[in-house]
Amino acid sequence: DIPVVFVTGRTEDNDQEKGLLLGAIDYILKPYSPLIVLARIRNQLALQKAHRDLKIANAELTRLATTDFLTGVWNRRRFMELGEAEVARVRRSGRCFGAVMMDVDHFKAVNDTYGHDAGDSVLRALAKACVDRLRNVDIVGRMGGEEFALILPETDPQGARLTVERLREHLGELTIPVDSGPLKVTVSAGVTTVQDPKDSIESALKRADAALYEAKGRGRNRTVAYEEM
Ligand code: GH3
Ligand code: MG
Ligand code: MG
Repeated sequence: DIPVVFVTGRTEDNDQEKGLLLGAIDYILKPYSPLIVLARIRNQLALQKAHRDLKIANAELTRLATTDFLTGVWNRRRFMELGEAEVARVRRSGRCFGAVMMDVDHFKAVNDTYGHDAGDSVLRALAKACVDRLRNVDIVGRMGGEEFALILPETDPQGARLTVERLREHLGELTIPVDSGPLKVTVSAGVTTVQDPKDSIESALKRADAALYEAKGRGRNRTVAYEEM
């Protein structure tokens, strides 16, 4: 990132061309005026700062476009992209992965009883607990409302089921501090495994959603595996 300026007595065109091709941002010939050299350096430093600011702004835009504002986990769009990449990996390597849908039980009652801000705190705490609890390679996304999705790379059906069940139990044990005191919630989860190269992330999440619906129907606060339904 350090701008290089040649100040030189080598005045041939091809010397100058060589210097610029090597990456110098400016090429100043002798005899030079110190005033002009300083002015050119100032211009280059201003350009460099503008470039740096642009990179920072760009990174911030990417963050805003890919993460969920409330919880900081991936948003739906980015989650689906990461899911597609995981399906592509299944096609290349033949390794399977777990796909999970989770939904907070009776969340409307949390909002109605404790207020929307308390509901938001619950969502943040659940998302953080998922991220903290899972492996670094696991992918956590907020699909909307009080619904989260997970991708568990290189995980077989039993492993996926066990991981989700343990996570679900952990989430149910959390006491979440809100203004009106500590609060507990439960979640339901549906899990499926992607191992067929013809599978897609959309249909995997539909299966996980069907299993989640089944978990709700069986009384909530539980995990159902699509393949065991
Ligand atoms: P179930 O056990 O069947 O899932 O019942 P539920 O009450 O959780 O489901 P329902 O779909 O009826 O309610 C979801 C609630 O989630 C309603 C909505 O106001 C609330 N919600 C959605 N997004 C947010 C959010 O960002 N913050 C808060 N605080 N609440 C949200
Ligand atoms: Mg819901
Ligand atoms: Mg719900």
